[in-house]
Amino acid sequence: MKFIVLGSGTTVPHPERSSSGYWLETENGSLLLDCSASVIHRMAQEKLDWANLDAIWISHFHLDHIGGLAPFLFGTKYAPETQKRTKRLNIFGPKGLQTLLEKFDRANDYNFLEQPFPLEIKEVEPLEKFEILPGIEAVAISTPHTEESLAIHLAGSDDQTIVYTADTGLTEDLATLARGVDLLVMECSFFKSKPVETHLELAEAMHLTRSAKPKRVVLTHLYPEWDNVDFQKEVEKFSPPCEVIEAKDGLRLKI
Ligand SMILES: [Zn+2]
Ligand SMILES: [Zn+2]
Repeated sequence: MKFIVLGSGTTVPHPERSSSGYWLETENGSLLLDCSASVIHRMAQEKLDWANLDAIWISHFHLDHIGGLAPFLFGTKYAPETQKRTKRLNIFGPKGLQTLLEKFDRANDYNFLEQPFPLEIKEVEPLEKFEILPGIEAVAISTPHTEESLAIHLAGSDDQTIVYTADTGLTEDLATLARGVDLLVMECSFFKSKPVETHLELAEAMHLTRSAKPKRVVLTHLYPEWDNVDFQKEVEKFSPPCEVIEAKDGLRLKI
């Protein structure tokens, strides 16, 4: 599997960090994890085959995670690249996703739910297993961020595992979900003295890393205050049990 960071930032405009989006390339298809407004262009910048994207995961309804979905569907409806597509696009997300998309759609009769190809919107319940791509089993858990917010665990047919926390406050459930995974993609919005309970700061992310013992961690969803922090130096103070990588737009990892 290949993992590509499209946006390592937040909803705050930043010259180098787009807002949330991650591309997962597997033998069985491609998956976009969250879809901010900037991500739809970031996919093209990274020369990814967005026109044949197989599935999209929406973690929650904050605009830096879903704000690009309606524009993306408006794009695929008319783009020359998708007019001959016959393959279905599956969009997975929390309860309420369908209603929210219909509201976007009705706001100006965009009609983007009718595509040249089949489109399926699937709302998932926490702890309910589902197949997100052929041979890739997924399960999500609720996180303390918004009412609907979900973290997701992905397991490939050859036992590769990934957890994407999306936005979350501190919960030990994440350590359970991410135990021993090959890659933990974890939000670490703040360096320290976080202003809200619904995000993580470095000490908490390192606590979860120590409990979960993943093989590798990528810290992401970095607010601009990280610009003035020596990331590796601060991470090393916690003596993490594995490699901890600072997400940057364009970062590519093999899993
Ligand atoms: Zn959020
Ligand atoms: Zn966010």
